[in-house]
Amino acid sequence: MAIDDGQLVLHFQPQLHLVDQSLSGMEALVRWNHPRLGLLAPARFIPLAEDSGLIWPLGLKVMELAIAQMAAWRAQGLTVPRVAVNVSPMQLRPELVDAIAEILARHGVPAECLEVELTESALTADGPAVNGLLKALRDMGVSIAIDDFGVDYSSLTLLRRLPISALKIDRSFVAELPANRQDVAIVEAILTMAHSIGLRTVAEGVEHTEQNVTLGVLGCQEGQGYLFCKPRSAQDTLAWLNATMNPLEAVTAA
Ligand code: C2E
Ligand code: MG
Ligand code: MG
Repeated sequence: MAIDDGQLVLHFQPQLHLVDQSLSGMEALVRWNHPRLGLLAPARFIPLAEDSGLIWPLGLKVMELAIAQMAAWRAQGLTVPRVAVNVSPMQLRPELVDAIAEILARHGVPAECLEVELTESALTADGPAVNGLLKALRDMGVSIAIDDFGVDYSSLTLLRRLPISALKIDRSFVAELPANRQDVAIVEAILTMAHSIGLRTVAEGVEHTEQNVTLGVLGCQEGQGYLFCKPRSAQDTLAWLNATMNPLEAVTAA
């Protein structure tokens, strides 16, 4: 796998505050621009990278690209509050903390601009070691979100024990809103629980206006999904950011 010759690229998907549609962050989603096969989705190669051990250098490359992109947006005066980077369980080694600190410092990006997304299975892996690592990241200023919340073994103890900042509600709970009353109740319960212990909430896979409206009524704070914007290349993301932040200029230029 070609980690160092520019074949790994990041696409970015906006995360919006549901109350006013303002930007809360950008999730970085890796793709492999394969010379023969074209642009490959992460499901095609992340599991292979995990099995072969390549996930460590791959993960560092993704972190490097995401933070470099954040530095570029900041240098261009674009207000992107945060970039969210998916981290595989196998990247949760003690060295990760220093590696992230070094990348942030080299690009002059504050740690508060970075969110790490971890799935619940990553968090249950090795209790004490993971706990220490996440605390070190949190003490540095990096926030931690649980990705795909609700599909794995959701242990409420995890939420109490670990320094989590946000829950990303898995898109399977969002898909049938508002028609599926059971899903409405589940999402409502997740939101109540999350807010009462001070966690931010982000709904994944928001595709339709009715889902957006329902999530807003239920009090979900942020959303991400095709309704707002599909993941896009860095270049297309820049155009989206410019159009979103300077809507009048975008219309005049068109
Ligand atoms: P994820 O972190 O839960 O990312 C969200 C996935 O849902 C993305 O798929 C995104 O394109 C897709 N998505 C976004 N909005 C919608 C929507 O409205 N409807 C539907 N149906 N899908 C939507 P993608 O890019 O194929 O990524 C899949 C998974 O691969 C990610 O799930 C994440 O677990 C993993 N992944 C992506 N980038 C990385 C990375 O850099 N490192 C690691 N370790 N894993 C990554
Ligand atoms: Mg994610
Ligand atoms: Mg997810």
